[in-house]
Amino acid sequence: MKRLAFLLILLSCVGGSLAAQQASNAENASVAIKAGRVLDVRTGNYLSGQIIWIEGGKIKAVGKAAEIAPQLPKGIRTIDLSGATLLPGLIDCHVHLTMSPSYMGPAGLHFSYPRQALLGARNARVTLEAGFTTVRNVGAAGYSDIALRDAINAGDVPGPRMLVSGPPLSITGGHGDQNFLAPQFAFSDDGVADGAEVIHKVRENIKYGADLIKFMATGGVLSEGDNPAYEQYSPEEMKMIVETAHGLGRKVAAHAHGELGIRNAVLAGVDSIEHGSYINDEDIELMKQRGTYLVPTVYLQDWLMANLTSLGLTASNIEKARTVIPIAQRNLSHAFRSGVKIAFGTDAAVYPHGMNAHEFEKMVQMGLPPLVAIQAATVNAADLLGWSDRVGTLEPGKFADIIAVDGDPVADVRVLQSVRFVMKGGEVIKGE
Ligand SMILES: [Zn+2]
Repeated sequence: MKRLAFLLILLSCVGGSLAAQQASNAENASVAIKAGRVLDVRTGNYLSGQIIWIEGGKIKAVGKAAEIAPQLPKGIRTIDLSGATLLPGLIDCHVHLTMSPSYMGPAGLHFSYPRQALLGARNARVTLEAGFTTVRNVGAAGYSDIALRDAINAGDVPGPRMLVSGPPLSITGGHGDQNFLAPQFAFSDDGVADGAEVIHKVRENIKYGADLIKFMATGGVLSEGDNPAYEQYSPEEMKMIVETAHGLGRKVAAHAHGELGIRNAVLAGVDSIEHGSYINDEDIELMKQRGTYLVPTVYLQDWLMANLTSLGLTASNIEKARTVIPIAQRNLSHAFRSGVKIAFGTDAAVYPHGMNAHEFEKMVQMGLPPLVAIQAATVNAADLLGWSDRVGTLEPGKFADIIAVDGDPVADVRVLQSVRFVMKGGEVIKGE
């Protein structure tokens, strides 16, 4: 009998997707979290002795324990975090979950699309456990990001909520093309499009499930044969990309290092500038006028410099990194002091996934006030994603995406590097 029961349990697990079952249980469950204190990320104020009441994966109410406790259903499951500081789940607006440092450069040439999706499943879990409950994935090959997002949404693998771009648009031979192959191995990466073809490429990415569009406005550092200071797409091509994407209700992120590429991408109407290494006062002024976000990705610069010669990068990539990074650190610190809108992004993939929160410390070292850095990864990131109605703050109606840390993250942002509790949509991921 015992063996039969075991077999039945085993069969029901295999047949009924245990993960999906757990996800739907979490959606229906009522939970009350006793919070030592809650950071209001809009104001920087701490609210003490709070209860967060969760129903159906969303926050039903937050408030003083004395007010909320009498309203709670009898026998509700309670999680005691009375010694901790609670914040909304963090948001990273620039990741590549289906890539990693070991597959940069020529090593990526024998890294299949299915293998990339499976690596993504591992990186999605690690990122979620680090406290990042939402990410914007800005560039993946073979629609592996779309497969990963759909697998997470179906409950097949654990991971953050994902908004995904599909393959990033790039000019032929540009930062998003494969430039390691000789002409006889004629191959272009799947986001490559020139001239009016960009309209077709944007529509194709959306056809296959892209939530947003990413394009390479300038050259990049970790690509062969191009220069990050130079513009790649023309102003006309950028306008076609942005108009087509916006017309279909998708936001647009532009990878842009050089000052001219930044300016023309902003003028074309992009929603965010990624990296921004050569950003100048004219770009900053234009971005402030238009409300364009800067997603600065600064911690990776330190990590890359420290590991530059052990990653199997080509001599030209190493030289580009040594040239661009000091310039980027100077210009971006200046941008941080100028009041341009900042959304948090890391470019995790260039360095190991799960270290995303190191970005906070670097942002603060470069001149951003700690609360502004936290807002970049919560309210501002939610605004950039177009998801202010569902993530970024702990308010009724939003997803129960919650993290807990020890200590005071506004006094010392480094505490965000050791998140001890993570909840996504009412489901405890870590630390109960
Ligand atoms: Zn990137």
